[in-house]
Amino acid sequence: MTAAPLPQATILGYPRIGRRRELKRAVESFWAGRISEPELQQTAAQLRAATRARLVELGLPAAGAAVPESFSFYDQVLDATLAVGAIPSRFGAPTGSDLDTYFRLARGDAEHQPLEMTKWFDTNYHYSVPEIDGETGFAANATALVEQFREAQEQGIETRPVLVGPVTYLLLAKASDAAADGFDPIDRLDDLVGVYAALLEALAAAGVSWVQLDEPALVSDSLRVTREETLGLVERAYAVLGGAGTRPRILIAAPYGNSAAALTRLGALPVEAVHADLVRGSLPDAALADGSLAQAFAGTQLVAGVVDGRNIWRTDLRGAFAQLTQLTDAGIATVVGTSNNLQHVPHDVRDETKLEGRLRSWLAFADQKVEQVAILARGLAEGAAAIEPELAEVDRVLADRDAAPGVHSDPIRARVAASGDDDRTRVTEEDRRAAQQDLGIPHLATTTIGSFPQTPEIRKARAAFVRGEIDEAAYEGFLREEIASVIRLQEEIGLDVLVHGEAERNDMVQYFAELLDGFAVTEHGWVQSYGSRATRPSILWGDVSRPAPMTVRWSEYAQSLTDRPVKGMLTGPVTILAWSFVRDDQPLSDTAAQVALALRDEIEDLVDAGITIVQVDEPALRELLPLDRDRQAAYLDWSVGAFRLATGGARAGVQIHTHLCYSEFGEIIDAVDGLDADVTSIEAARSRMDVVQPLGDHGYSRGIGPGVYDIHSPRVPGVDEQTELIRIAAARIPGEQLWVNPDCGLKTRGYDETVASLTNLVLAAKAVRAEA
Ligand code: GLN
Ligand code: ZN
Repeated sequence: MTAAPLPQATILGYPRIGRRRELKRAVESFWAGRISEPELQQTAAQLRAATRARLVELGLPAAGAAVPESFSFYDQVLDATLAVGAIPSRFGAPTGSDLDTYFRLARGDAEHQPLEMTKWFDTNYHYSVPEIDGETGFAANATALVEQFREAQEQGIETRPVLVGPVTYLLLAKASDAAADGFDPIDRLDDLVGVYAALLEALAAAGVSWVQLDEPALVSDSLRVTREETLGLVERAYAVLGGAGTRPRILIAAPYGNSAAALTRLGALPVEAVHADLVRGSLPDAALADGSLAQAFAGTQLVAGVVDGRNIWRTDLRGAFAQLTQLTDAGIATVVGTSNNLQHVPHDVRDETKLEGRLRSWLAFADQKVEQVAILARGLAEGAAAIEPELAEVDRVLADRDAAPGVHSDPIRARVAASGDDDRTRVTEEDRRAAQQDLGIPHLATTTIGSFPQTPEIRKARAAFVRGEIDEAAYEGFLREEIASVIRLQEEIGLDVLVHGEAERNDMVQYFAELLDGFAVTEHGWVQSYGSRATRPSILWGDVSRPAPMTVRWSEYAQSLTDRPVKGMLTGPVTILAWSFVRDDQPLSDTAAQVALALRDEIEDLVDAGITIVQVDEPALRELLPLDRDRQAAYLDWSVGAFRLATGGARAGVQIHTHLCYSEFGEIIDAVDGLDADVTSIEAARSRMDVVQPLGDHGYSRGIGPGVYDIHSPRVPGVDEQTELIRIAAARIPGEQLWVNPDCGLKTRGYDETVASLTNLVLAAKAVRAEA
C-alpha cells in the first residue's frame, strides 16, 4: 500500500447508458441476435473510454484514481453477484461466456425465472436481487474489474474500480428457495468477506491503487437489521478487509442518506477513505467541535458528498464550500465528492437545446456536477479567492431562479395555505358506502388498473403527431377510435368497471407534466430505470397549476359509449413528484400540495362530466419513504395528506380508487389505510395474495383489489389459477371488500394474451361469486 492519497476531486460514479442511450441499443441488439458478443464488448469499451476521457476533460485528474470505473451492462448488484460467484444453483452449471451467465440471471430464459428486481434504496432504480443460501459457492472473479482497469491504463487514465460492498450486498440479498428455514443471507458474511479479500488481492496484483466499496446499507433503517447492527457488521467486515496483506486502498462510500451518527466509527476503520452524503445527510456537529471526528479521521480521507447526485439543480457552491471548510478547518483530509453515484441524473444539460434558456441556466446534469466538484476542489487547493468568480456566478443564478416568473405564484400559495383538514377529509366510510350503492357495483367486481396494450399503431400515431406529420384533429380522432374499441372489448369480456385505456399517455407522469404549469420536459434527459430501460423524468421547477382539464374529454367520451361505470384515471401527487426532478428550494410537502390541488380540480371536472369513479394511482408511495426512520413520520404525513387533498373534494357518491404497484408495504400500512380510498388495488399474484392477510389483520375496512393476474409476463393465467387466488383472498378478508383485477396496467402486454387473461379473470370471479 504505497499508493498516494485520493486527489481532491472525485465522483462516486457516472451514468453508463451513454449520452444517446447507446448501451441500450447495443445490449438490446445483442439480445435480439443482431450483433455478436465481441461487437457488444467493443461498443461497451468505447462507451467506457468516452466516459473516462469526458471525466478528465471536465476536471477530474487522470492520475491517482479520481475517476471511478462504474460501468455496468445491466446492474451494479448483478456485477457484484458475478464478481463473488454467487450464481444461484437453480440456474444450473454455467454455460457460455460470463456475459451469457450475467444476462441469463438478469433476464431468465425458457427454463429459468430471472432474478427478482426491486428498488435500490429510495430511488426509482431497480437492482437484481441476489439469492443466497448455506450452499452458495462464492468464488472471486475479478476478470471484468481488472480488464476495465487495464483498458483505462492503456488510455492513460488511472481508475478506481467500484463494487457494492459485502455488507450491503448481503443485506440486499434474499434467502434462496433452497435455503434452510430461518437462514438469512447475512449469515454468510464471513465467507463473503473472504471472497472480497481475494478480489482485493487480485486487483492489487493488477496494479489497482484504490477501490471503492459502496455500503449504502449504513444509512437505511429499512433493512432486516437495525442501523446499529449494520454498523457492527461493517466494522467486522472491514477489520478483516483492511487488515488483508495485499490490497488496494479502500474507500467506503455511504450514499443516499445520513451517516452522521456513524461517521466517527467509520473514520476509525482500517481503511484509507470514507465517503459521507452531505446532501441527504449532515456532519456530526458535536464530534466535529470536540475534535473526536478529526481524531478518528487521522490518516483517513473524508470524501465529502456535497454535490447532489440525485437532482438536477445547480449546486449552491458557496454553501457547499462552507461545509468543506468546516472539515478542513478541523484538520480533516477532505476530498470533494458527489452525494452518490451520478447514475440517477442525465448526462449533460448542454444537450437540451430546446429547453428555455433561463430554466436551463439553473440546471446541472452529470457533466455539470463533475465541473462543480472540480471547482470546489480548486477552491480547497488554492483558497476561496481562487473560485470567487464561480461562487458569485452561482449566487447570481440562484437569485435569478428565485425571482423568475412562475417560480412563486401568490394565488397558488394562498390556495395551499388556505387548505385545511376539512379539505382532506371526506364523509364517513359508512355514508360513502351507502351513497355508492347507486353505482350498482356487483360483489367481487371485476376491473383493470387502467392502461390497455400500447400497440405499435398507438406509438406510431403519437410519434407522427409529435413530428407534425398528422394534425391534432387526426390524432384525437385516432385516440377516440382506440377508446371506442377498448370499451367495446371490455363489454364483450364482461368486466364490471371499465377504463378508457390510457392510449393518449406516453408515460403516467410525463403526460400530466406536459399539461400542468410549472413543469418542463427534456429531450435527452434519460436515466436508467433498470437493465436497458430508461425513463425521462420531467422537471418540476415552478409553482404548479392546471391551466385546463387534462383527462376529462377522454373519460367523458369513454363514458358516453357504455352504461357501465368508466373509471377516471389520474396519477397521484406523490408519484408525480417521485418520478420527476423536483425543485429543491421549498419543502416537498408544499410542492405536493400544489400538485394535489391541480388534481383536485381535475376530479371535480371529471365528476361534473358524469364520471362517478376516479382512480388516483400512487405506485411510488413506498419508494419515497425516507431511509431514515426519524424522517418517516413527517413524510407519511405530507404524502398521505397530499393524496387526501387531491381526493377530499369528491362527494360521498363518488368512489375513489387508488393503485399501489407493489405489495411490500408492511412499514407503511397505516399510511395505505390513511389514504382513505374507497378501493385500493395492489400487486399480489406472484406472492399468492400474501398482502391480504396483513391488511385484514390491520382491520382494513374498505375495498381491496389484490391482483390475480401477473402482468409482468406474457403467460396467460388460467381460470382455475385465478379462481384459486380469489378464494385465498376471500378466506382472509370479507368477500364484500374484495375486487378482482390484474396486478397492474396492461400497457406492456399484447392484445391476444390480454384478452385471454381478462376473459379468464371474469370467469374466475363468476365462479367464486357462484360459490357464495
Ligand atoms: N393506471 C396505470 C396503468 O394502468 C398504473 C400504472 C402503475 O401503477 N405503474 O398503467
Ligand atoms: Zn401498478
